[in-house]
Amino acid sequence: MDSEATASPPAPVAVLGAGTMGSGIAQVAAAAGHDVTLVDVAPGAAAAAVGRVRESVARLADRGRLPAEDAEVIASLVRGSESLAGLPECGLVIEAVPEDLALKRSLFAELAQHQPSTTVLATNTSSLDVSAIAEAVPDPERVLGLHFFNPPPLMRLVEVVHGHDTSEAYLEHVVGLMRAWGKTPVRCASTPGFIVNRVARPFYGEAQRVVHDGIADPATVDWILRERGGFRMGPFELTDLIGQDVNLAVGTSVWEQTGRDERYAPTAFQRDLVAAGRLGRKSGSGVYSYAADGTLVSEEPDLRLAARLVGGPVEHDPLARTVAMLVNEAVDLVRRGEATAEDIDVAMRLGANYPWGPIARGREIGLHVVADQLRRLDSAYPGGRYRPSPALTDGSLG
Ligand code: NAD
Repeated sequence: MDSEATASPPAPVAVLGAGTMGSGIAQVAAAAGHDVTLVDVAPGAAAAAVGRVRESVARLADRGRLPAEDAEVIASLVRGSESLAGLPECGLVIEAVPEDLALKRSLFAELAQHQPSTTVLATNTSSLDVSAIAEAVPDPERVLGLHFFNPPPLMRLVEVVHGHDTSEAYLEHVVGLMRAWGKTPVRCASTPGFIVNRVARPFYGEAQRVVHDGIADPATVDWILRERGGFRMGPFELTDLIGQDVNLAVGTSVWEQTGRDERYAPTAFQRDLVAAGRLGRKSGSGVYSYAADGTLVSEEPDLRLAARLVGGPVEHDPLARTVAMLVNEAVDLVRRGEATAEDIDVAMRLGANYPWGPIARGREIGLHVVADQLRRLDSAYPGGRYRPSPALTDGSLG
């Protein structure tokens, strides 16, 4: 850590909620030299999280990825608390309590009373509207989203989300701060799913439709997306890892928040899996089955079928369908002014491990070609899911 380079010590940071995300975010802030208070109302949770931070940095030191002295300094900067009382005046407070709007609003209202008017109040929400949280605060210009990805110490991407009233000065300040923390910030509006969870929807939805329609089996679709598409994992193995229930909940939330737009409609395929308790690795079965030690009972892809489908008519090509829909989603986000093309490409590479940014990929394929593919899909499957974004053909993206 380079504490000598800074003229004044970094302002204290508070993290509310010491669960999966809170403890990781606290570690990141302490590694950047901040005094961090981790607050959790569950008895013993904050202390346990401080213990997890200690173990985590000690492991990094053991593996030679952090000098042992730095690990000790980082651990010494994090303290736990079971209430907001006694919180120091902070430069930044990051809320990471459960995804419940009423809970988050009440915490923000309380924070606004106790923290100076210059303290940035951030939420790590994945799906709630930042503006709706900010309404609980008399000065909503200082409220914004800081959407870290799991696990925060390893994932570089942070979505910096602005509500209706968030001030540009606070946004710029936080973008700079995230860079100083070693993160790669991207900016976006408080739109359902933000960038990553919105643009990624068709990665799962197209695969589920292809299987539901009997075009290919899951193992073959996964093989195509991985081996021919360059994705690190296929959509079925990935959703089994994430949890079919968790993935369905994110998709359903985006669908509800977009007024049940057909583009995001949950599939019968995934609903049936969840209803049957086939949640993925954690339940022993999902799309695939897993042995007691969690290893996949592998299913063989049909390589002859894969060879026939890829490069054939778009309606039956799992890869072309998926890519066209990812590009469509990404360009629509730009068209609505919710994020820039550059930020979307960075976000999908870093936040979802995609082999390319979808806008760059769309330009390589040709945006008009993508629009044609979507028109063909739209005639094969009418209803609005495949409607091409005007941004594919209006020349606005070059
Ligand atoms: P979690 O359940 O692991 O942790 C939440 C913690 O908040 C719990 O320890 C709970 O005791 C504590 N808590 C509850 N009420 C509180 C209060 N009033 N004051 C202080 N602490 C309180 O949850 P998580 O997975 O860390 O998620 C936290 C937030 O981050 C959610 O908004 C979630 O949507 C978001 N998020 C989660 C992930 C993820 O992968 N888990 C990724 C990005 C964002």
